[in-house]
Amino acid sequence: MSRTTVATIHLGALRHNLARVRAMAGAAKVMAVVKADAYGHGLERVARALDADAEAFAVAAIADGLRLRAAGHRQRIVVLSGPDTPFDIAEMQRLRLEALIHHDVQLPWLAAADPARGPLRVWLKIDTGMHRLGFPPERARAVHAALLAMPAVDRDIGFMTHFASSEEFEGRETALQIARFKDATADLPGDRALSNSAALLGWPDARADWVRTGGLLYGLSVVEGRSGIDFGFRPAMSLATRLVAINHLVKGERVGYNGTYECPEDMPVGVAAIGYGDGYPRSAVAGTPVLVNDRLAPLVGRVSMDLITLDLRGVPDARVGDKVTLWGEGLPVEAVAASAGTISYDLTCGMTRRVLFVED
Ligand code: PLP
Repeated sequence: MSRTTVATIHLGALRHNLARVRAMAGAAKVMAVVKADAYGHGLERVARALDADAEAFAVAAIADGLRLRAAGHRQRIVVLSGPDTPFDIAEMQRLRLEALIHHDVQLPWLAAADPARGPLRVWLKIDTGMHRLGFPPERARAVHAALLAMPAVDRDIGFMTHFASSEEFEGRETALQIARFKDATADLPGDRALSNSAALLGWPDARADWVRTGGLLYGLSVVEGRSGIDFGFRPAMSLATRLVAINHLVKGERVGYNGTYECPEDMPVGVAAIGYGDGYPRSAVAGTPVLVNDRLAPLVGRVSMDLITLDLRGVPDARVGDKVTLWGEGLPVEAVAASAGTISYDLTCGMTRRVLFVED
């Protein structure tokens, strides 16, 4: 089926963003987080764009590590939540994927691993307050010692933690997490990787040996009220479609499912070929910014599966076939996400297979 909805991935923006991350990271190495199909931008194309300049990739699933190896990437690849089963270990050794050790259940699997299959590099995850994955700080030393005694485990063990609210630059929680991490790992040999994107922006203390950055590579920010563009990053995805109809409605007529929008006056309402079936958020409320021919045409009425409706009063010369921009250059995805009660990552990750992806 031919649709007019296109996500354009800007490879130059990806490279610019990585260069900017690197400049901000100082001496730290960059672990480019490409999980969830590179935040919806396409794993292989993003890895290809970043390959020359990222010291490591981070993925959430072994299958993504396999895809990266199949595409020829030779960097270090860290699996941010694996192994999940004992059967994962041999595959990780075969693919030279690095494991994230966060729970006692994983220890016997590692202890039983066959050293003849090659050394397994591991990162020890410490839970400093997120309470998702990781050993309590007071157990870090003992687990580290246990890992060192396992024949298949590489002796070069790294340390990680993850921040719960690093986008709150004034908050106390991140400072506490950094302090707990430093305390737990003091004097232990090995690389440290703490910083996600928001920490890179706001918590220089967390830079350490590696920064583990996702969002900013795609030009995305989770800092409230501030887009990636505000921090000097470029959007790596632009989402656009076309107007497929224009209706001239009179005051009092209602638009879309359940008639949630009532026209306050006679007005043109545009219909654009995108909906939640493409990944445009159904939760987007009336007033969500949309551009028609680069001018503001806010969303009105409910988002349908295949279509959205737009207030065209600000674009009276709009014609069927004209370009509709949902986000990207000129319209930060963060503004759309805020109107949909979510974050930008959720939107870029949510593109469905119906959307045509192109590169520029
Ligand atoms: N590290 C871990 C463990 C993560 O789960 C994530 C993302 O969710 C990241 C790093 C990257 O975070 P960000 O995309 O905000 O840079």
